[in-house]
Amino acid sequence: MGVTDALLAADRRHVWHPFTQHAWWPEDDPLVISRADGVRLYDDTGKDYIDGFSSLWVTVHGHNEPRINDAIARQAATLDHSTFLGFTHEPGVRLAEALVTRSPQPLTRVFFAGDGSSAVEAGIKMAYQAKMQQGQQRPLYVHVAQGYHGDTLGAVSVGGIDVFHHTYKPILLDTRMVSSPGLRRPGQAPADRAAEVLAELRALLDEVGETVCAIVVEPLVQAAAGMLTHDVSFLRGVRELSTEFGAYLLTDEVATGIGRTGAMWAVDHADIAPDLLTCGKGLTGGVLPLSAVLTTDEIYESFLGDASRTFFHGHSYTANPLCAAAALANLELMDERDTVAHAAWIGRTLGDLLKPLEADGRVLEIRRIGTMTGIEVVPNGERTGFRICTAAREHGVITRPLGDVVILMPPLGITEPDLQQLVAAIRHGMDSVYA
Ligand SMILES: *Cc1c(COP(=O)(O)O)cnc(C)c1O
Repeated sequence: MGVTDALLAADRRHVWHPFTQHAWWPEDDPLVISRADGVRLYDDTGKDYIDGFSSLWVTVHGHNEPRINDAIARQAATLDHSTFLGFTHEPGVRLAEALVTRSPQPLTRVFFAGDGSSAVEAGIKMAYQAKMQQGQQRPLYVHVAQGYHGDTLGAVSVGGIDVFHHTYKPILLDTRMVSSPGLRRPGQAPADRAAEVLAELRALLDEVGETVCAIVVEPLVQAAAGMLTHDVSFLRGVRELSTEFGAYLLTDEVATGIGRTGAMWAVDHADIAPDLLTCGKGLTGGVLPLSAVLTTDEIYESFLGDASRTFFHGHSYTANPLCAAAALANLELMDERDTVAHAAWIGRTLGDLLKPLEADGRVLEIRRIGTMTGIEVVPNGERTGFRICTAAREHGVITRPLGDVVILMPPLGITEPDLQQLVAAIRHGMDSVYA
């Protein structure tokens, strides 16, 4: 038995992979990834692939970025870990500062968590408790159909993707949901769809607004739903309605943040500021797990007082110094390299490269904001999106679909020739699946 076969056999015996139907696993032929460099991943035979989806939307500059690796190594040699409960440390403080200077002005406070889900979890608890401490009982959350905010129970409660979320319905929080602004009728303009869902939101808030502590949205792109995009007027309208009805606005920028849409935050496109903003995924450059909730003085100050006003939340590795050092190096590099502007350039270039596919009969729709791209294809038998992505591997590209939406979200350090290879591989993948 070769090394790979032995590894796969042990995997089958002992490992349970995320979001994976293991009854299909052997025939789906899992790839063993052995190393990475820049925008490329290498399998155990040495074959290289462009990382077309930033290793599930996390990689920023590229893999094994020396500056980030050095920062982690230097930090590990100084202070590996110390709790943030009752103690503090430089990388955690400097990172909070760095995040605040890069964020909409009223966001002045940073609470660290581990994964995107745990940031959302902290954010929704914070919103409820803040309102309670201001003398308002508001136990209800409003969220958006087709939304995704992670897999812990609070995050699942504010999610709205049926295939992921319906199993857990009986054990979730009580919430109310409005329609997705990204699901337009044929020919409907994005702004018209936004106005329609805003009217629905207003009607809902007229009914239950007094009991809502937070409205939770993925700004501009509902990523896990298959890159459903919506108009900036939706975000602006939700901001206005939140304020009018006294609910907080939580924008979940775990996927959209850190430059991915061609702005530091998706809310920057709409020129609005939320009361709570969650980030994660690309925060450390895609190297280590770290997330954060950014919030306002108003919310922070409602927690000041006696012991009962403590925010009863924290994790063993809150603000882990290695993660914080990676994130600081990542943000510094983003400044030096003007990564956000480069992301906007990637978006435009992808748009140009994908133009011919827009008129392709096999494509239903291409949705994109900045680098976040979904190519919805016409189903052709079972798991069409999956088969296209598998075929694209033969042409040196790795990505994962969401149903029949092929996702492209390359690392923000990608160059034009690699973008060309990326799009060509998807086209080749389609050719072989529809042949
Ligand atoms: C991925 C994602 C999450 C969950 O983050 P994890 O790190 O996987 O827990 C939350 N919100 C959004 C918008 C996401 O895309």
